[in-house]
Amino acid sequence: MHDFAAMDALLREQWSEPGERECLPCYVGRMLADFGCANKFRWVTRWREHNAPGAVALEQRFVRRGARCDCEVALKIYPDQIPGADPPVPCAGVSRRGSTRPCGVRPRPPPPA
Ligand SMILES: [Zn+2]
Ligand SMILES: [Zn+2]
Repeated sequence: MHDFAAMDALLREQWSEPGERECLPCYVGRMLADFGCANKFRWVTRWREHNAPGAVALEQRFVRRGARCDCEVALKIYPDQIPGADPPVPCAGVSRRGSTRPCGVRPRPPPPA
């Protein structure tokens, strides 16, 4: 009998791997859409470990700016980067690997009237 649970975990693992040059907000947005928020820095930390291992203070920086979990990072730190674009906009990629800057591919929503 095949171990479907293990296969599922493997697929999940590959799917939740940040792209080589995928930017932080695009990755977090993609993961939030598929897996949701765990009320902690799950995707931010995963992205940092993969793509910006030097940015050790990333989470603390977000906490200081009022975000304590992945969805708050999306809402408060990158409000015009992760609006849940439909269809989803693919990440344009960061120019330098390790950069925590957004790729800026998502259009800024119109200012509130
Ligand atoms: Zn959250
Ligand atoms: Zn991006």
